[in-house]
Amino acid sequence: MGYVDEVLESVQKKNASEPEFLQAVKEVLDSLRPIVDANEEVYRKAALLERIVEPDRQIKFRVPWVDDKGQVQVNVGYRVQFNNSIGPYKGGLRLHPSVNIGIIKFLGFEQIFKNSLTGLPIGGAKGGSDFDPKGKSDNEVMRFCQSFMNELYKYIGADVDVPAGDIGTGAREIGYMFGQYKKIRGVYEGVLTGKGLSYGGSLVRKEATGYGLLYFTAEMLKCNGKDIAGKTVAISGSGNVAIYAAEKAVQLGAKVVTMSDSTGWIYDAEGIDLDAVKELKEVRRARLSEYRNYRPNSEYHEGRGVWSVKCDIALPCATQNELLLEDAKMLTANGCFAVAEGANMPTTLDATEYLKANGVLFAPGKAANAGGVATSALEMSQNSERLSWSFEEVDEKLKGIMVNIFHNLDDAARRYGAEGDYVVGANIAGFEKVADAMLAQGVC
Ligand code: NDP
Repeated sequence: MGYVDEVLESVQKKNASEPEFLQAVKEVLDSLRPIVDANEEVYRKAALLERIVEPDRQIKFRVPWVDDKGQVQVNVGYRVQFNNSIGPYKGGLRLHPSVNIGIIKFLGFEQIFKNSLTGLPIGGAKGGSDFDPKGKSDNEVMRFCQSFMNELYKYIGADVDVPAGDIGTGAREIGYMFGQYKKIRGVYEGVLTGKGLSYGGSLVRKEATGYGLLYFTAEMLKCNGKDIAGKTVAISGSGNVAIYAAEKAVQLGAKVVTMSDSTGWIYDAEGIDLDAVKELKEVRRARLSEYRNYRPNSEYHEGRGVWSVKCDIALPCATQNELLLEDAKMLTANGCFAVAEGANMPTTLDATEYLKANGVLFAPGKAANAGGVATSALEMSQNSERLSWSFEEVDEKLKGIMVNIFHNLDDAARRYGAEGDYVVGANIAGFEKVADAMLAQGVC
């Protein structure tokens, strides 16, 4: 049995109850085969793969808080610090009822390679809780965030581990957590990113993942002889990533016709009214079913279905495993020629294979959505030098980073005989730097 298969088998045995983590490890290790085969002796001796699939540490803690009725509630908090070979741990905090250790591990593992791809010195981590901010008052969210930080603060710091937002963790939650960290530690440092502009946040951070996704997609299309202008785009999700992906798609001349949330999806043939979606989601925290009040000619459907509409480009921006094999078949049949992942692992392995086999350009999330963490790293730089850069300056850097990421992975795919396979390219390009650093730093 080859080295990759041996490690996959052992990961499967040790983590049998964590399907998302197993899926992520399989996707990465499978595509690393060419580079592992070329360096098998060195990697094996150093147990490099065994080390890279095992987190440095995983922290689990109780998060008690008091709701508005005076009732004590208890949630579980997690931080998985996966790998800090190339820089301090960095990765978001997810607040969603579906959160468990397997999901946090899958996200932390992916984050290692994504962070490496940005070219910036940041290691991989992820955290969160099964707390659901939906339907909670601001005071309840604040009490939860304070309690969460009462434990998390022990493990993080500006040069140690710098968490950020993710599903359910936006500017409000980051603000409450930052306030609590400052109170407990008595230091004012860039320990979290995604902060408000008045207290150390960076311009463009809010837009970064969505804008970066479109900068990456536009470059991928350009290098394949296509142009995004005039194209029809289907987007899932209506959160931070989805909204700013839609905004940049429109700025680049495309038309966005769908968005979704966890209860249903909207179709607006004339192009989604983003001001309406922003008001619904960012201001009122309401459901997309109300979109028809703004645009009576649009359609609202309960449940799944975003991928059934005719489009040229699909951008899954909601959550993991939301684009299934049957969706990939519908997209391909309807003429979709590019899928770029705004969310983390939104496409299942069989759907990814189907899309690639049918000539659809496929951009994996760890490359295409890296603009968020890259801009977080730019926020860290600004905090360190105690300066704030202009919107144009950060946006220009973001664009440069995304274009670079595309060319790095395109080049890695070519070097290892997998031209046009951006999954292989992204995994190899992300892995190379981390592997070098791990080997150089000895057994630790
Ligand atoms: P948000 O919480 O802002 O939005 C998430 C969106 O996805 C919402 O529309 C939500 O609907 C929907 N959604 C969440 N869970 C489900 C589900 N189980 N089924 C269907 N829809 C669901 O999160 P973000 O936009 O920040 O994150 C979206 C994705 O992008 C995640 O995979 C995240 O890890 C990834 N990502 C985010 C980055 C960032 O900078 N924010 C950076 C890189 C990746 P509802 O409103 O009903 O909950």
